[in-house]
Amino acid sequence: MNDRWSSSPGQKRTLLLDDTIVAISTPLGDGGIGIVRLSGPKAITIADTLFKGESKVKDLPSHVIHYGRIIDPGSCEVIDEILLTLMRRPKTYTREDVVEINCHGGILALRKVLELALKGGARLALPGEFTKRAFLNGRIDLAQAEAVVDVVRAKSESSLKVATHLLRGGLSEKIHSFRHTLMDILAQLEAAIDFEEEETQLMGEIDFDQKMGKVRDQIQELIETTQRGSLIREGIRTVILGRPNVGKSSLLNALIGRERAIVTPIPGTTRDTIEEMVDLEGIPLKIIDTAGIRQAKGVVEEEGVKRAFRSLDDADLIFLVLDASQPLTEEDQDITKKIGGRPTIIILNKIDLPLRIELEEVKRLLPARKIVETSAIQGAGLEEIREGVKEIFFCGGIPTGESLIITHLRHKEALEKTLLELTRAREAVQRGDSFEFIALDLREAIGSLDSITGERIDEEILERIFSQFCVGK
Ligand code: GDP
Repeated sequence: MNDRWSSSPGQKRTLLLDDTIVAISTPLGDGGIGIVRLSGPKAITIADTLFKGESKVKDLPSHVIHYGRIIDPGSCEVIDEILLTLMRRPKTYTREDVVEINCHGGILALRKVLELALKGGARLALPGEFTKRAFLNGRIDLAQAEAVVDVVRAKSESSLKVATHLLRGGLSEKIHSFRHTLMDILAQLEAAIDFEEEETQLMGEIDFDQKMGKVRDQIQELIETTQRGSLIREGIRTVILGRPNVGKSSLLNALIGRERAIVTPIPGTTRDTIEEMVDLEGIPLKIIDTAGIRQAKGVVEEEGVKRAFRSLDDADLIFLVLDASQPLTEEDQDITKKIGGRPTIIILNKIDLPLRIELEEVKRLLPARKIVETSAIQGAGLEEIREGVKEIFFCGGIPTGESLIITHLRHKEALEKTLLELTRAREAVQRGDSFEFIALDLREAIGSLDSITGERIDEEILERIFSQFCVGK
């Protein structure tokens, strides 16, 4: 356990680290601008060895952008024409002195500036090290630091909303309020332990069941949001299923082609699939094996269907596409049988053509499923698909910027541990155990809450969390 920052919550930690870190903070490749960021006690001195502007960096006003050049102090060669942002501590990302050098976007100039900063005495930052310093120096807590990655990686409006809420301290606030209540009970218990004769009287006053019960219920509610949380964060894994020519790829294109859809091709986590993230007006769908859907034409006819079947096990949701302009075929029926009890939306496509499908037959094959009529080529019915997804996964409504939803397994596990300890404490009260035992359980419960905000946390867990970040963040 690392107790360097095991101060009480809210208490400002300031832990000035003695080295200065540097990294290229923008994506590598040609770009409009590229930023080299320095943070630490020597950030300003190091910047002064490279910067040529109106005056020395150390004499420039803070939180202002300054024009100048970066000069190689060895060869006196001009490396780039830049804008330098000086931010003196403590009102900075890391709470340390920060200097950001905005170069022209080319990778060579950026590398050169980085090299010069390293020569000047900085150390190359580890992944997430700027954010880690923001945490170590007490500007944000650990849950907020984790939200930084979520904001960077958000692929849908709702995942961004949930992430920014976490970043603003939505969860931390809740955790602090639980902690506050439990600390109150603990303080009373400890007082009772000190003045043994008052035990019975205090027992009534504290009213464990009521106070702890409230916290327990709220924690339980939070834990129950986890499934929604992971759907929001990771996207609803969706398979588009249907025999050839029903309009699967047209439907995929219609979904992707929507004005506000964000499409991100990502290699599938299993097998050789390609997944695409589609933001269906706030609902994140991760459509599995979009390559399979598109390839089916060129390859063997049934290959696309086979590939889709292989993806079924990983799916949260199935879009079963049927051609409404044709009677149901045997192949449709075979496909339907593979669906089993999985959440499914039946999509009757091609409704712009005369209808020949038997609706009753479809309902008999797959009872109690939402049926939506679409014309993929006209883009009709997509809103109904969105409504269908919403009904299945978000009966409580799509999360807003104020929704408190658990999106991290680590937070869920810590909450479960807290719940377990509180249940133990309750049982101890019911058994009439001595206050020492109850206090012990409460302390454990508080310890689990503290691991969420990072008030108390293992160094190893910290390393694991920050290693998920990119360098420069
Ligand atoms: P897939 O094999 O299931 O991916 O089907 P495609 O998306 O390739 O579509 C097969 C054929 O149906 C193509 O000629 C499409 O233009 C046509 N098609 C797809 N959706 C519709 C629709 O809603 N209405 C009509 N009239 N034709 C459609």
